[in-house]
Amino acid sequence: MAKLTQNATGISPEVLAGYEPVIGLEVHVQLKTATKAFCACSTRFGDAPNSNTCPVCLGLPGALPVLNKRALELGIRAALAIHLNVQESSRFARKNYFYPDLPKGYQISMYELPLATGGWLEIEHDGQTKRIGITRLHLEDDAAKNLHEGFPDSAEKSYVDYNRGGTPLAEIVSEPDLRSPAEAYAYLTALKQVLLYTEVSDCNMEEGSLRCDANVSVRRRGAEQFGTKAEVKNLNSFRHLQHALEYEIERQISVLESGGRIAQETRLWNVAAGRTEPMRSKEFAHDYRYFPEPDLLPVRVSAAWRKEIASTMPELPGAKRKRFVRDFGITPYDAEVLASTRALADYFEAVAAAGAPAKPAANWIQVELLRQLNDAGKEIAESPVPPAELAALVAKVESGEINGATGKKVFARMFETGKPAAEIIAAEGFTQISDTGEIERWCREVIEKNPDNAAKYRAGNEGVFKFFVGQVMRASRGQANPQSVNDTLKRLLS
Ligand code: ADP
Ligand code: ZN
Ligand code: MG
Repeated sequence: MAKLTQNATGISPEVLAGYEPVIGLEVHVQLKTATKAFCACSTRFGDAPNSNTCPVCLGLPGALPVLNKRALELGIRAALAIHLNVQESSRFARKNYFYPDLPKGYQISMYELPLATGGWLEIEHDGQTKRIGITRLHLEDDAAKNLHEGFPDSAEKSYVDYNRGGTPLAEIVSEPDLRSPAEAYAYLTALKQVLLYTEVSDCNMEEGSLRCDANVSVRRRGAEQFGTKAEVKNLNSFRHLQHALEYEIERQISVLESGGRIAQETRLWNVAAGRTEPMRSKEFAHDYRYFPEPDLLPVRVSAAWRKEIASTMPELPGAKRKRFVRDFGITPYDAEVLASTRALADYFEAVAAAGAPAKPAANWIQVELLRQLNDAGKEIAESPVPPAELAALVAKVESGEINGATGKKVFARMFETGKPAAEIIAAEGFTQISDTGEIERWCREVIEKNPDNAAKYRAGNEGVFKFFVGQVMRASRGQANPQSVNDTLKRLLS
């Protein structure tokens, strides 16, 4: 359970614990097509405002939409990845409302016949796997983008950039199966992972490729019936999702505790103020006057096409995690980290395939490689250390040719220079010293210099043994074979 960071209401943790949150997410994901959903305009992000527009996406009279087959294919891919049933027959509908970013006066979406229904996604949370139901996935086109100059202090001028208008989206609606902000976070994490694995979307939240609205209600623990929900919009980061849910749950509990009722309404997450605020109540809810889109044919997905798409699906994160645990004997936690992206998983498998034992390989990647990449602001694909070279280094450490501490130094140099381990070890004299004569000399010296500790050890204080090992390793600049140091010290001190 996530910690409630914003106790805005001052209700006690005991009272909070008497309620159970119920959460369902609606996620909009931008499909990675080159052109828009119903016209041939480019979807490229960051182009000059209004340069990627045409009569269709500007909603000019008489212009006719044509469905982008690739958008449909990506929608089907996403649907298959989250175990939805892709419908043989679905249909676009008009969702009518007026707004400057919607030049047609309606959004093309799907309503009573969505593309796919009835799926699920597994989330990992608190060391447990939980299956979250997914109600539906449907396709729609995105609105344009309003820009308000001077906002929020003063809005002197407003602009509309129609480049984004008409970009294909998939909306993925979950069942109300999530029970905490942390579970919602885990769900969005798992969903993003699957969408990246299947290359359906780049899921770039800063560019708005992945957006999330959260529906949330609370009920007394043990109650069967759901409470009245509020929908929280404008959650454009994982952190906002978690904070907004934490806030909203507390707000609802405090309303109920003071004898009030929850209004069914849409609320907005105010990032600066750290609270949700009413946007519109159900009373003023839009009546979208949905009706079947007359300018587009019904969507037909043949079983053959669906199977063809299914045959190109990659191994998904859940299956990969299980295989890593089974075949490589690594822990579920390690598997989760290593399977977090396809590129990282491929890297790990390449290290293992190059002959490194899997468990130490998993450690080296997670501790050394990921830290260095992170510090350097690099992606795994840009790693200066290729998998085979990491495997060679791991093999040297495992065989005792160099010790672990030296291995880390060698790795840092490999990362810096891109040179192979063997070259760095030879050039910089990093080889492990296993010469027993030399090791014995260091050991004797350290014992002589520390007669008090030697006496303590001989009197039965085994704790000081570590001190001696440390001193000898230091004298050898970390290059002495630790096993040999241990054996020699034991012999000389007994
Ligand atoms: P609406 O009619 O308002 O669109 P839906 O039943 O279509 O509501 O559900 C929209 C989203 O709200 C879904 O993600 C669903 O899981 C979630 N949801 C539905 N009822 C509740 C509830 N009582 N508490 C929290 N979430 C809910
Ligand atoms: Zn266009
Ligand atoms: Mg609905």
